Amino acid sequence: MTQVEAVEKFARSLAQNTVENLELRTNDFRLGDGFETSTNSVLSALLARQSALAVGLIESPPSWNGHIAPLILRSMIELLISVRWILIDPEQRSKEYISYGLGQEKLLTANYQKELEEGNADKRVELIVERNLDWIESQMFQMFVEVNLGSWTGMSVRKMCDEIGDPSLYKFSFAPFSACTHNSWNHVGKWNARLCENPMHKQHMVGFVADIWPIVDFVANACKYLELVIDAFDSHYGFNSELKKPRALFEEAVELFAEEWNSAASADEEE
Ligand SMILES: [Zn+2]
Repeated sequence: MTQVEAVEKFARSLAQNTVENLELRTNDFRLGDGFETSTNSVLSALLARQSALAVGLIESPPSWNGHIAPLILRSMIELLISVRWILIDPEQRSKEYISYGLGQEKLLTANYQKELEEGNADKRVELIVERNLDWIESQMFQMFVEVNLGSWTGMSVRKMCDEIGDPSLYKFSFAPFSACTHNSWNHVGKWNARLCENPMHKQHMVGFVADIWPIVDFVANACKYLELVIDAFDSHYGFNSELKKPRALFEEAVELFAEEWNSAASADEEE
């Protein structure tokens, strides 16, 4: 086995476990009360979204680095915060989550319609408008969809973390990964700037792209934030299963990966 094959095998086993964990909870959906349409829809769709993000990261070793991985992880952390926050009042907050999204789509569609009326857009835009309206109206009559500016929760992510009783999640996970997402100096200054070597230049920085190498710890983080959402989902529905969860699977897979990686490396040296 080559080192590349070892990475592929490691990633494949984690991605497969992610899909199995999701399907176990969403295929033939029997969890929850049949009347809790919004809650069931939102929880199952958000679990699927978290799984998609995890698989995306897991299957792309070139993204296991400080330039790219935090973008995905930050989105996963925000999803975890949303799920925990929704679960404080699932029925009400699931409805709010959906109607905010419908409102955003209605606003975008109205903006496209205005462009069409003013003759600034072509047939393709007409098609987008048509499809968007179909999507909205399959869920709610358009006239009842409220357009809500601002955030869907009406509060900051920091405040949401206070409400879910986990301020550390904001301080030590959401905030640092946000620096990468927003291209803040405390990310860019480390990853895309080095000191100019010319002593006459008053110590300015020069843009560069920091060398990257795949860091498996980012994958461990993806497994963690996926599992925390699985846990929230399971505890809401009182669901149990024997299937290994992402973190346990990661521990097992990473050990095997390390062995196979090292033996591929020493086989390489012998040649
Ligand atoms: Zn210089």
